[in-house]
Amino acid sequence: MDYKGLVTKIIPFSFVDGPGNRMAIFLQGCNFNCGYCHNPETINYCNNCGSCVEVCPSGALTIQNSKVNYSKEKCGDCDMCISHCPHFSTPKARKMATSEVMSEIKGVEPFIQGITISGGECTLQWKFIRELFIKVKEETKLTTFIDSNGYFSQEALFGLLPVTDGFMLDLKGASSAIHQQITGKDNKRVLENIKTVYEKGKLYQLRYVVVPTVNDGEEIEVLAQRIKEIAKDLPLVLIPFRKYGVKGKYKDLSGATIKLLEDIKELLLKRGLTNIDIRSE
Ligand code: SF4
Ligand code: SF4
Repeated sequence: MDYKGLVTKIIPFSFVDGPGNRMAIFLQGCNFNCGYCHNPETINYCNNCGSCVEVCPSGALTIQNSKVNYSKEKCGDCDMCISHCPHFSTPKARKMATSEVMSEIKGVEPFIQGITISGGECTLQWKFIRELFIKVKEETKLTTFIDSNGYFSQEALFGLLPVTDGFMLDLKGASSAIHQQITGKDNKRVLENIKTVYEKGKLYQLRYVVVPTVNDGEEIEVLAQRIKEIAKDLPLVLIPFRKYGVKGKYKDLSGATIKLLEDIKELLLKRGLTNIDIRSE
């Protein structure tokens, strides 16, 4: 097979998407609608409304047969189309076969330690990821990581586990109600998947974005409880909410301070968790 995936963008070198220097591959489409999404253009599939075509200063967007056509060669990467899109999408996503992505990986292979697939919610395209990771394992020595919101099926989980070296998962809210409020979905499936990935020894980190007034305060007691139910040494990373790039319902909230994160870390340590980090940016 040569599966095709809908790829939003590829960053050849990234130091913030897992261990070492990695190629980060972002896939289009998400099953959550988070109020603080920092990549809102990855949420929806383009509906070809055409409204971004007129704002492109480079003539990289045209309409052909009622579809928006994107020219990578003409694009100046100003992202005005993305800022303008009222539909939380991008005209720049393109279908790529796993063989095409492998060619891009081979081009930078000597300079990276691995690849990370992110999104959007990349596991919506898990068959594409699985085939790509099999090729990566067969043809290179690179490591394979997945960055996910944790909301995926058992079929996706057990399809990806054998070919994935590490998972970076999110827990957006510890209680079902707050998770629902932030993402639009409850967290039962997410917690089950975190537990399975941890027990298989493949949880690289669990990220909790602290959103002041939304999932701090009493929600942190629930967070401590939920994590202890899985393992007190589960690798948890606290990340401050930042409003930069946010278009969703939390766009007017203030960012979280590092002092707030330090206080939360201290509380979690007191509640018995042992493996907590803070990411300042
Ligand atoms: S990217 Fe957005 S604005 Fe452009 S055609 Fe697609 S939905 Fe419309
Ligand atoms: S990023 Fe979008 S608006 Fe900017 S040049 Fe490229 S296609 Fe045009």
